[in-house]
Amino acid sequence: LKINTAKPYQILIERGCLRRAGEEAARVFPGGAKTVIVTDSNVGPIYAHAVASSLEAAGFQSSVFPFPAGEEHKRTTNILGMYAAFSDRGLTRSDFVVALGGGVTGDMAGFAAATYLRGIRFLQIPTSLLAQIDSSVGGKTGVDLPQGKNLVGAFHQPSLVLIDPDTLSTLPDAFFADGLGEAIKYGCIRDGELFGRIAAGGVKDEIEPIIYRCVDIKREFVERDELDNGDRMLLNFGHTFGHALEKLHAYKDLTHGEAVGIGMVMMSRCGEAAGLTEPGTAEKIARVLSEYGMPVSDPADPDLIREATQVDKKSRGDNINLVLLRHIGESFLHPIPRAELGRFMEALS
Ligand code: NAD
Ligand code: ZN
Repeated sequence: LKINTAKPYQILIERGCLRRAGEEAARVFPGGAKTVIVTDSNVGPIYAHAVASSLEAAGFQSSVFPFPAGEEHKRTTNILGMYAAFSDRGLTRSDFVVALGGGVTGDMAGFAAATYLRGIRFLQIPTSLLAQIDSSVGGKTGVDLPQGKNLVGAFHQPSLVLIDPDTLSTLPDAFFADGLGEAIKYGCIRDGELFGRIAAGGVKDEIEPIIYRCVDIKREFVERDELDNGDRMLLNFGHTFGHALEKLHAYKDLTHGEAVGIGMVMMSRCGEAAGLTEPGTAEKIARVLSEYGMPVSDPADPDLIREATQVDKKSRGDNINLVLLRHIGESFLHPIPRAELGRFMEALS
């Protein structure tokens, strides 16, 4: 796949491509360039060696910067560690960074690359389902602050994305389900057939075409709206209430994908009540989620959810941009005045 942002780049989806990272990188980066492979403490021990030897074999000089795995380590102290590693290793603007891991690794390594020397290039090798279908494509990078998630960041497109579905064989099941929540989202907003394929079950054994379709949908939205001022917001389907639920759960007990899943059901229920969404849509989404063992509702008080929604950093001004489905496979933006959110949510009480 080729993605046509201001600076176009390739996304390769192929079993085993991680082990050919050097060859693939050689098409994009200058021979003899130096690189630091940023990876976390779970992914590094499994895959860093293969990536490093492939890069070395292709004539790149590589070293590894590991950091502790987990969202709680998506912190600026680790960014500073990366800058130090880049500097010790003598990276210049003709060198590059490799992000090898899940979304946490990609977001942080991408942000470090975006800001070091005012920006050096980077290669994404996403290893979680969520990173493969979502975070590695589109150029959003960033890091959490004590004040909130992803509060500091930059748009910085990778120079190449290598998606190796084989890496999913070592991904813990809970994280696989988490990524699947986003895959269901892509089906909801853009592709009824994709939704049906996931609903039919057994996706783990034929995940490749699903990854391909999800990435292609993300590509389409990112190309139309690289800086996220319009259509790209449709990718936030399920996220308005999803983020609120994550916050109410203090980012524990509920994964991001689970929260988004519940958010999709809630939003569709409200859409149905408002006569904007085809009746039965919320039920269809709920059925797929339960098929994969994901929750479809949350006991949180709708009033608290509404309050937590009001302070979402992505909503601007007096209006709040809701993403609704017309039916499975078609979505639209529905801006409403903040003051009307309570009434819109009445279907939930
Ligand atoms: P993650 O990077 O923490 O990975 C999840 C867990 O799986 C980690 O413990 C990781 O070590 C492990 N792991 C990853 N790949 C593995 C593999 N192949 N084998 C074994 N273990 C593996 O989290 P995530 O779910 O990948 O991503 C979540 C992050 O992505 C969040 O911080 C979120 O903000 C960010 N995100 C960014 C964007 C974007 O557009 N930039 C979009 C969505 C999410
Ligand atoms: Zn998401």
